[in-house]
Amino acid sequence: MSDSDQPRQLLEQHFGFREFLEGQQSVIDAILAGDDTLVIMPTGGGKSLCYQLPAMMLDGITVVVSPLIALMKDQVDGLVEKGIPATFINSSLGQSEMDNRIAAMKRGDYRLLYIAPERFKSERFVAALAPLSIALFAVDEAHCISQWGHDFRPDYLRLKWALKDLGQPQVIALTATATPEVRDDIIAQLALGQFGRQVPQVFVSGFARHNLTLGVTAAKNKAGKIARIEEFVRQLKTGIVYCATRKHVEKVAEHLKAAHINSIAYHAGLSDEQRKKAQDKFMTGKADVVVATNAFGMGIDRADLRFVIHYDIPGSVEAYYQEAGRAGRDGEPSRCEILYNYADVRTQEFFVEGANPTRDIIAGLYDALRRLCARGPVEMSIDDIAEQVPSATNPMAVGSALYQLERAGFIQRDYRQGSRTYTTGLVEPVKEFADLPIDFDRLDAKLKRDLGKLQRIIAYADHRGCRHHFILDYFGDTDAEPRCSVCDNCLARNTATHAAARLPTDAEIIVIQKALSCVARVNGRFGRGRIAQTLVGSRSKDVLDARLDRLSTYGLLREQGEDYVWSLLDVLIRAGCIEISAGQYPTLSLTPLGRDVMLRQQAIPLALPEHAAAAAPKKAAKKRETAVKPAEPVDYDATLFDALRDWRRNKAAKMGNIRAYLIYPDRTLEELARIKPQTEAELLEVKGIGPAKARRFGAETLAILRKR
Ligand code: ADP
Ligand code: ZN
Repeated sequence: MSDSDQPRQLLEQHFGFREFLEGQQSVIDAILAGDDTLVIMPTGGGKSLCYQLPAMMLDGITVVVSPLIALMKDQVDGLVEKGIPATFINSSLGQSEMDNRIAAMKRGDYRLLYIAPERFKSERFVAALAPLSIALFAVDEAHCISQWGHDFRPDYLRLKWALKDLGQPQVIALTATATPEVRDDIIAQLALGQFGRQVPQVFVSGFARHNLTLGVTAAKNKAGKIARIEEFVRQLKTGIVYCATRKHVEKVAEHLKAAHINSIAYHAGLSDEQRKKAQDKFMTGKADVVVATNAFGMGIDRADLRFVIHYDIPGSVEAYYQEAGRAGRDGEPSRCEILYNYADVRTQEFFVEGANPTRDIIAGLYDALRRLCARGPVEMSIDDIAEQVPSATNPMAVGSALYQLERAGFIQRDYRQGSRTYTTGLVEPVKEFADLPIDFDRLDAKLKRDLGKLQRIIAYADHRGCRHHFILDYFGDTDAEPRCSVCDNCLARNTATHAAARLPTDAEIIVIQKALSCVARVNGRFGRGRIAQTLVGSRSKDVLDARLDRLSTYGLLREQGEDYVWSLLDVLIRAGCIEISAGQYPTLSLTPLGRDVMLRQQAIPLALPEHAAAAAPKKAAKKRETAVKPAEPVDYDATLFDALRDWRRNKAAKMGNIRAYLIYPDRTLEELARIKPQTEAELLEVKGIGPAKARRFGAETLAILRKR
């Protein structure tokens, strides 16, 4: 075997994939050539493999810095499962366990070591690492190093010094954020391409996500938004609802609960333990919907999310795409939607202003504090302090200004036990405002930049052209095609270009009549998802339990498929033939116009969905076909599937409660239940089962399959 075959062989042997995803191969080549690299790929683009695979080939250990402490154990479990010796070090470990792991590392027991960034605060820790032979230093979520990024973490600034102490090993930085400032910051802060190495290689790839249906829905009010969310949940089951504030998270979660939808709420106001519990519940599939602020999601590797809804417009295109990109990481068609109400923009502006206090506010605050604290520290809430600052209309900005003053060592703030507020006092000797080491021009520039970013996401929401194109253009992906087949605007235009909204043909009228009559049958009792399922003759439990299979309209549009029917219902809703109730359960009912159309007493022009457009996009399918089986999920033995799943659950529990999909993902179980392999060789034919998995689980899997 030649050298160049080796990565591909490792890919198959350890990861069970036959092909590289877009960009991976070139990154790996660059690493093996010894270059520093900056990898910009969207969430789900397959970044981790870019360093995990070389880690198997390089001489020495690969250190991975990742802020995702909560997920480290899973990541490491996943690697060990693949036969890759790995471990992690973070604050969840005691000193002696840490020492054990460092000792094992020195013996060369591991290929990969995951470290939380705050570990580098400890000189002792860095000194313990220094003697290791570090082949590659991977910085995950590298945008955290940039103060221009949306997720700046001061701990990341230490990496530069840590690298120095570790003898400037080769670096790979990875992120999904691609704005030019952030990119430059990463290169500068990590000194990529310095120390005698070639200029760093920068890779931008994979931003196109053809499996995501991007859309924006105008929402008049909260009830409209909730109704839309419930529709999504009922139709698509698994996903995330992002909200801008904790209050919204709690509201939405409450509504879902009232509608008997099993969801979890997640925001920064919860304790670490509550958050971990919530995350576990979601990752293990005990809850299928998360309502969350943007505190949720970094590193979420549940690949089967079918939707991401934004209840509030997010702050920037990159934040949006990063969050939306958590849908459909398995490559299957998924939906991303912003529920857009122009009034929400004001909330976002408020956040931006709140995070970026102006010089006036900081100066006004310092004046006020010099007065208030003249005789010692005072115990006041931020709101109360804000009232003493004439230039401040936004208490959040005062909170940020307090932080700035504290960081500069001008004031000191302490949390008093048993009290809910801080005491705030001046640091002696009291300093002059003019000496404040803050670059106000920089702050101003940041405020402008952040407002500019907000403008761009608003432009996205208002955009009438292709949404995929808009986003790729934003990220500087120059290969972007001007149109797609899976954004709301293109879907509407696909028919519209040929015949704007046109009068349906006779055949189409029959389809429309069938759809409308199904709505009429169940008038006001079921939502769009259930109606679509009924029309295509679904055997799902929901449909059978509600006895919808007994309706005369059951299965009438079987040939059209659920996606088409869903879109058709959408068109009919937009055209005013069907209305959605705003109640707790959003249900569909026929309008008088819909009735007329159903009875052929009136013909109206419609922009009907195209069949091709409703199907899974071709490009995405091609890209992932090596990893994900292309078969339809209907033709497998359901009993066998259940048996396999039970076994998997037990197995995962026995293996220390690892995530079940680390054993086999659902798709592999489906394929097993379809192909029913009887020998080890046949087992290896199943996508997702490589030699490592076969060795590990093959015997038990075959035992179940042979029983049938
Ligand atoms: P990122 O870190 O960029 O968000 P991950 O590294 O978590 O993405 O990878 C996303 C998904 O893609 C994972 O489920 C991973 O197993 C899968 N993946 C990675 N490389 C390949 C490949 N070559 N073929 C198929 N799937 C892959
Ligand atoms: Zn489009």
